[in-house]
Amino acid sequence: MKLKINSIIIVGGGSSGWFTASALNKHCPEIDVTLIESPNVPTIGVGESTVDKINHFFQSLGMKDEEWMPHCDASYKASIKFTDFFKKGEFYHYPFGPGDLNYTKIVDDQLEYNNAYDSWFFKKYLYPKTPQTDFAESFWPFMQMVNKNKIHSNEDGAIPNFDMKTNWAYQMDATKLGIWMKKNLCSDTKHILDHVTNVNLTDKGWINSLSTKEHGELQADLYIDCTGFNSVLFEKTLEVPYVSYKDMLINNGTWVTRIPYVDPNTEMELATNCTGISNGWVWNVPLFSRIGKGYVYSNKFIDKETALTEFKEHLKETNLWCKNNDVEELNYRHIDIKNGIHEKAWHKNCLAIGLSYGFMEPIESTGLLVVTEKIRKLINVLQSKDRHINQGDRDSVNKETKKEFEGLKQFIAFHFTGSIRDDTEYWKWYTQELEFEYEIITKARFSNFSFNEFSLAWQCISIGNHMNLYTNFSVEEDVSLNKKMKNCIALGIDQIFEYWKRRNNKINLLIDKSPTHYEYLKKIIYKRK
Ligand SMILES: Cc1cc2nc3c(=O)[nH]c(=O)nc-3n(C[C@H](O)[C@H](O)[C@H](O)COP(=O)(O)OP(=O)(O)OC[C@H]3O[C@@H](n4cnc5c(N)ncnc54)[C@H](O)[C@@H]3O)c2cc1C
Repeated sequence: MKLKINSIIIVGGGSSGWFTASALNKHCPEIDVTLIESPNVPTIGVGESTVDKINHFFQSLGMKDEEWMPHCDASYKASIKFTDFFKKGEFYHYPFGPGDLNYTKIVDDQLEYNNAYDSWFFKKYLYPKTPQTDFAESFWPFMQMVNKNKIHSNEDGAIPNFDMKTNWAYQMDATKLGIWMKKNLCSDTKHILDHVTNVNLTDKGWINSLSTKEHGELQADLYIDCTGFNSVLFEKTLEVPYVSYKDMLINNGTWVTRIPYVDPNTEMELATNCTGISNGWVWNVPLFSRIGKGYVYSNKFIDKETALTEFKEHLKETNLWCKNNDVEELNYRHIDIKNGIHEKAWHKNCLAIGLSYGFMEPIESTGLLVVTEKIRKLINVLQSKDRHINQGDRDSVNKETKKEFEGLKQFIAFHFTGSIRDDTEYWKWYTQELEFEYEIITKARFSNFSFNEFSLAWQCISIGNHMNLYTNFSVEEDVSLNKKMKNCIALGIDQIFEYWKRRNNKINLLIDKSPTHYEYLKKIIYKRK
């Protein structure tokens, strides 16, 4: 097989296929790229929600909100909201971007204290009634917008350390986005509408060619499997072993539907809301023209039909349209899901991107994130040695990808295992039966009383799960923590809390005069009257 990659065939025209083609078009124009897409196999497209890193990818392709969003039913997303996860009746947020640490750092430096986010634990300790939602409100002043569904684009810089274009993410119809990319970013990609009927291997198990229904045999130096759950090249032909995550992630079915808006000004939230219900959780993804809803459940505890009934009940209780209309009028689609990955991401001359490689239930909106992360690795490897690829390069992609997914597995499970719910067998399984180890949490809790090594994502979910590091006992008993607390009080740690309050009050006044999310999109992005 060739060491230097001059030609690539991508099989699959879902978002992972077109994302990959767009990136190759822009960043590796010297490579001859063909994309084959079956006219018979539909793309997955459920109304996808993303995380902030997607912005880096879009910017690397030169994509501008005003250009692509109107074609993809897209809306903005500033945060993920988790409702009824820790316990019924409580919610918390995971907002995007670095947030506002400016003032905190000034005080922190005096304290020789190096994780500004930890300063919130002082507040929680000194004022125990502080709700967990206050963490997000303290560090992400744009939460004032999220709470009121309003947008201030911040060109005047009134909101500290907030840049809407890089901090926020999107909710969109990913299938439409793929189509937009095909038309606008893939002018050099050869597009073939045909079904791959066979994958032909060499004696040594490398892919030699693809047989298609109408275009005969096609060959390339590298094949990229973007065929979704079918995993036509990677699993069905190369038989790369599959590693299931069902030991920790038991959700394996989803019911999805689309619901019309009654009042987009109030319903088009700036967050994707995930609500924990009896046997799983329901997503609420507000796109520009409709709301995407999905119930992710486990058939360990309920069957498909019961899940649909539970889903409809939830819709009747929580959605405006469903409160006043017959939920039977909506269309429901069932999708079997399986959490897990393949042992390798890049095997011989085939790289799997998207669902063909692996899947993680969408509670953290990671589907497209892992697609873009894989593409980033591919481009990096292709560009670094003038497109020469050897086993070392493949290994590096494999190791890094596996590490990312293993981390995600732990992180996603923590949304459930950190809960105190025990109202159904499902929640009892997660909160009482499942055995697991969280090294990172143990260290934060008992070794250094700090979130220093946590990513922001882990911090937010930990706070939502009431992992408050400073307890009465720990502050009294641990000498160094006790000293730190006394120092903080002496240095006026209350100034930080006062700053958060003053800042938020000021921003709130500004937000009151701002357009709603819907009005903003209509005028600025969709250019409608
Ligand atoms: C229930 C659910 C919810 C999700 N929610 C989110 C979310 O909120 N956020 C997020 O980022 N991601 C989410 N995802 C993941 C996201 O939808 C996918 O990662 C993304 O759409 C990429 O899909 P894909 O391109 O890999 O596969 P698909 O969209 O399935 O595309 C597969 C392509 O392969 C082609 N194909 C198949 N077989 C052949 C063949 N033999 N010959 C030629 N072509 C073939 C098909 O025609 C199609 O074009 C979710 C996924 C599911 C299942």
